[in-house]
Amino acid sequence: MNTLSKKTTSIACELAFIPGTPQKLSGALVTWQDGKISEVKVCHPRDWQQSIKAWKQEYPDLQVYEDKLLTPAFINPHTHIAMNFFRGLEASATSTKGNMIEDLFYHVESHLSYEDVLAFSRLGAYENLLNGVAMVWDHYYHGHAVATALSDVGLTGVVAPTLQDLAGPGKSRWEEEWLQTESIYQSKDLAQKGIFAAMGPHASDTCSAGLWKKVISSAKKMKIPIHCHAAQSFEEYARIEQREGKSPISWLAGLGLFSEGPEILAVHNIFADKADLKLLGQSKSVSLCFCPFSSLVFAIPAAIEYWDQYEIPWCVGTDCVASNDSMNIQKELRMIAGMPMYNLSRTDSYLNFIEGKNASNLNTMNQERQSSWENTTKQRSPESLLKKVWALPGSIHTQFAAGEIATGKLANLLIWDLSDPSIWPSRSLHTIAMGDSSRAIYQMICNGRFMGKDGQFEASIKQSLVFQEHLKEAKARYHSMLNRCGLS
Ligand SMILES: [Zn+2]
Repeated sequence: MNTLSKKTTSIACELAFIPGTPQKLSGALVTWQDGKISEVKVCHPRDWQQSIKAWKQEYPDLQVYEDKLLTPAFINPHTHIAMNFFRGLEASATSTKGNMIEDLFYHVESHLSYEDVLAFSRLGAYENLLNGVAMVWDHYYHGHAVATALSDVGLTGVVAPTLQDLAGPGKSRWEEEWLQTESIYQSKDLAQKGIFAAMGPHASDTCSAGLWKKVISSAKKMKIPIHCHAAQSFEEYARIEQREGKSPISWLAGLGLFSEGPEILAVHNIFADKADLKLLGQSKSVSLCFCPFSSLVFAIPAAIEYWDQYEIPWCVGTDCVASNDSMNIQKELRMIAGMPMYNLSRTDSYLNFIEGKNASNLNTMNQERQSSWENTTKQRSPESLLKKVWALPGSIHTQFAAGEIATGKLANLLIWDLSDPSIWPSRSLHTIAMGDSSRAIYQMICNGRFMGKDGQFEASIKQSLVFQEHLKEAKARYHSMLNRCGLS
């Protein structure tokens, strides 16, 4: 599945989301070579039939997709794909009250081998693939195994082997992860497959000042981003406050993380106050990442409206399956769109209503809802939501660009079947931002390769011999891993 096609491929789709065109959706012809888009032509939807005739003459091998929608494939900007094995683990349920990361994950992760991570990451990669995600930003131990799994499955990605020298299951082997970071960075073969490196310090409390400084200076030299967790837990905040007398964000800022130059992808940022947000807003190199469902499980959701207030760019990820049991990025977008309304059921007027003082509160509630609805129209627009899983995470790395159908970007594309009941009769981006439409994926192109059979995308992948082999190995390793951890 992972042989890179050197030939030029052209497809035409009846509708496509092409940036900069006057109408939101146009007919389009897209050509790519060596995994990158080399040409884009558009036509008004009403001129589709006429354009197709002309394009067929010009491009004799053109593959034409009638009644289909072409969009960029999704980018999942923060995940740990190997952690899909935590799904359904009963211990997860009992550990979510406290610090799930430290109570459960660290224990199990200290028993994981390189081969375990490779086998579980392949399954995580398939789950992303089947949900229309062509690129993941991953952060995990045995990072080279994650990169190999992406290559085996055919997904593109940015892999940050986890670095931690003070606490956590990787603290005694961070030098090995450092070497793996360099190895991914130097691999021309991986780069050709759309797999790149980022520096992956784990979090403020698990990495020393010395390690952070080494990371910042190396990322600067290598011109690669730093992908880290920041201000993610109550415990992290308390530890840094006690150790350094500052908040995690303020301490990291003091080390130069947000001002030295490398692009920063800082994930969660739940425990950042206005002073912290002001610091982040002044940075020219930071993007935050919000993982809505995950943060609901392991902590609380960040107040993202403040991120907007301080004009800090932010994207949307799933985090790992273990904290939300799904790698479907569409459901995360829908959650964000609904959050402003969700907050309204905790206002004084609504709580008074619950207490039985309804007559005087209905009007206030209605006004609060109207005003919240109007103030968040932009936040809830399909274009604004999709940007957080397309163009924004596709523009953070210096070695590639993705998330847009434009010349020079990675050819990571989704072809949607507009006749599928989960999309029909919509012919707009609204359904892509708000729907459950994985089953309407007709075909997916990843780094220029067709990943399944037209119209049988999911079935053709799940029935392939290579998937069956990967599944068999993951199952065997799962059971032996449970035994080793005393969880079987
Ligand atoms: Zn994470």
